[in-house]
Amino acid sequence: MAQVKLQPKKKFGHKEGCLRCGRKRGIVRRYGLHLCRQCFRETAPQLGFRKYS
Ligand SMILES: [Zn+2]
Repeated sequence: MAQVKLQPKKKFGHKEGCLRCGRKRGIVRRYGLHLCRQCFRETAPQLGFRKYS
């Protein structure tokens, strides 16, 4: 039997909040980014992401 342990949260050394503006709401943690939605929107194209909508 395999025991699967669910770890609550992994800390990656990032402070909670947007890395760019420090906002703690609407953080996008996809792709390992820690940006708020606004900064993500501005930064995504530079990172090679395309707009989804
Ligand atoms: Zn931000």
